[in-house]
Amino acid sequence: MIHYACDLCKRELDPQEDLRYVVKIEVYAAFDSAAAGEDDGDRDHLQEIQDILERVEDSEDELIGDEVYQQLRFDLCPECRKKFLKNPLGAEVAKAFDFSQN
Ligand SMILES: [Zn+2]
Repeated sequence: MIHYACDLCKRELDPQEDLRYVVKIEVYAAFDSAAAGEDDGDRDHLQEIQDILERVEDSEDELIGDEVYQQLRFDLCPECRKKFLKNPLGAEVAKAFDFSQN
């Protein structure tokens, strides 16, 4: 049986009692097609990126993967889910912590 723990507070999650939330974060290089304007040359470029991303999904080439595309996955308990949603990018962490400590 697989045991899950909250990735934020490290609390073990009981599948019988605790709801588990999965956070998936995708970070990838944004190639803005609009920024390329009407330049006809950007077609091949986009195709190239798409090829790279497809290759990454096959996870054959990890070097390219880290540069262009990363996916992170976290398990959160209900309390940490709330904290995370209030501050998904971790900005002003101190403030967020004050909030949750009552
Ligand atoms: Zn937690």
